[in-house]
Amino acid sequence: MTAQIIDGKAVAEQLRAELKSKVADLKTKDILPGLAVVLVGDDPASRSYVTAKGRACDEIGLYSDNRCLPELTAQEDLISLVEEFNHDPRIHGILVQLPLPKHIDEGPVVLAIDPAKDVDGFHPVNVGKMVIGQECFLPCTPHGILQLLLRSGVQIEGAEVVVVGRSNIVGKPIANMLIQKSLTGNATVTVCHTRTHNLADHVRRADIIIAAAGRPNTITADMVKEGAVVIDVGVNRVEDATRKRGYRLVGDVDFDSVKEKASLITPVPGGVGPMTITMLLYNTVQSAMRAAGLEA
Ligand code: NAP
Repeated sequence: MTAQIIDGKAVAEQLRAELKSKVADLKTKDILPGLAVVLVGDDPASRSYVTAKGRACDEIGLYSDNRCLPELTAQEDLISLVEEFNHDPRIHGILVQLPLPKHIDEGPVVLAIDPAKDVDGFHPVNVGKMVIGQECFLPCTPHGILQLLLRSGVQIEGAEVVVVGRSNIVGKPIANMLIQKSLTGNATVTVCHTRTHNLADHVRRADIIIAAAGRPNTITADMVKEGAVVIDVGVNRVEDATRKRGYRLVGDVDFDSVKEKASLITPVPGGVGPMTITMLLYNTVQSAMRAAGLEA
């Protein structure tokens, strides 16, 4: 069997088109969803994420306010800016780009964000609501994975899912979402990590594999059941002298061999990646609708 490729770029474009038309509709009701993005320091990767977020807002017609603060910004000043956005009625979503410089403690900064504007879904109030199945902002990468599965027609209910990785931003939340007693959940989920014995034995049982380890070739063909759905979240740089920049990006899955056994597979790049910013836009639109008392 050769897998069908899940085209994350195409799914993200479709979702953005839906959001664009929702935003146009909201504008007729005098509602303009707004996103604030705060970057501290000069990390080139973070800067390019922030630029991409601003462009994505423009593309679907959102208001955006991007602030770039110097590397040596004091924690209190960053928190004051967050509080300013908490009270700004033009802003429905606040995102502080992580990681922050070492002298700033991430915890208090995330706690300072009004949970009603926490479109990253990292505030403990939103995390708690997600775990107990209440309405909340779902974190963007795992929400993007869920949308890829749903929009590819993958049967989640009753499926054996193996998630490789237990981080707070990918592994734990996607596992939580998929075990919810809901139409988009009802899976049986195993979460693996570096202390898991016999990773291959777990992965081999999976109808759906979600690889979020951050290590190339963590999932090889011998670990994959014939016909499994494979979602590769990993983004890893490997040296490649044939490329101008000296490296290429690969996922956690040995794509070339695994695609011969899977039924569906996401590529890297072009799989999960394009969904993350799209779900941020989705959450911002949802937030503006909730603030206006509309059904989100
Ligand atoms: P992380 O915080 O480094 O967590 C990695 C997890 O994988 C940890 O739980 C670790 O276990 C586990 N792990 C690592 N090697 C393993 C192995 N050989 N066997 C089993 N488990 C293993 O990473 P993350 O933030 O979740 O990100 C994971 C990957 O996804 C990275 O490549 C990242 O760049 C990518 N990512 C992509 C997007 C996107 O938008 N496309 C968004 C977020 C992340 P321990 O807990 O035991 O250490």
